[in-house]
Amino acid sequence: MIILNNQDFKVRNDAKTDIEDRGYTFGDGVYEVIRVYNGKFFMLDEHLQRLQFSLNEIAISYDVESEKLQERLEQLLEQNNVVDGAIYLQITRGIAARNHPYPKKSTPELYAYPIPVSRPLEAQQNGIGMTLVQDMRWLRCDIKSLNLLWNVMAKQKAHEQGYKEALFYRDENHVTEGSSSNFFGVKDGKVITHPANNYILNGITRIAILRLCEQLQIPVEERELTLAELEELDEAFIASTTSEVTPVVNIDEHKFNDGTIGEVTKRLQDGFEKLIQL
Ligand code: PMP
Repeated sequence: MIILNNQDFKVRNDAKTDIEDRGYTFGDGVYEVIRVYNGKFFMLDEHLQRLQFSLNEIAISYDVESEKLQERLEQLLEQNNVVDGAIYLQITRGIAARNHPYPKKSTPELYAYPIPVSRPLEAQQNGIGMTLVQDMRWLRCDIKSLNLLWNVMAKQKAHEQGYKEALFYRDENHVTEGSSSNFFGVKDGKVITHPANNYILNGITRIAILRLCEQLQIPVEERELTLAELEELDEAFIASTTSEVTPVVNIDEHKFNDGTIGEVTKRLQDGFEKLIQL
């Protein structure tokens, strides 16, 4: 495997990260997972914009454009012959003696490399189950930070109980997002999803779905869903780079649509399928 480390391409085993990289000591960095279909990046511009946003929010001085990151990522794809998969990319604040404040001098450290991702066709056909987990994360979930501990713990809880994904709720009453996905409900033909604010990550797939809804003239409400409303939904689905549009057929004991895939979800799945024919 060929990896991108800052400006350089290397073989995987030549990647040597320092023990004092702030990514390790503080989780001080940000990341992206970018899907590749048919040898081409899907929504790369949006990913790079979100990456720049995350970098700016935590004041890592790295300029995606002047570093010609897009060009390098295209080269990385070619060098690894990625056809159907994804690129994982992370940028940390770099190496510094362990002190909390941002170091006066440090050089951001970038790694990007292919990760195996294949389409979750079985889950898309049959749907998945979710379990509610309290959202105990910090209040800047809009930053795609390396700090994923509660996401990891929630996903583990879900898997241990036989569910594919955890659904976060906050303040005892409203749903935010999945542990690694955005959540959408459908009621009376309307798609309802949490507004893109500090409580959720504004998923790139979420953006694609909102555009699709506009094209397909499916009404959308960007607002909080309460736990009481969850039970009344006609349909539900999650969206992410790796799950695309995956129907949710039950949340804990509560089943939607008799455990079958709803009509609006199906239309969005079909629409998404067309988008990824790159
Ligand atoms: N929310 C969270 C918490 C996530 O980890 C992800 C996946 N990275 C998403 C939403 C979906 O984002 P995207 O569509 O960009 O993959």
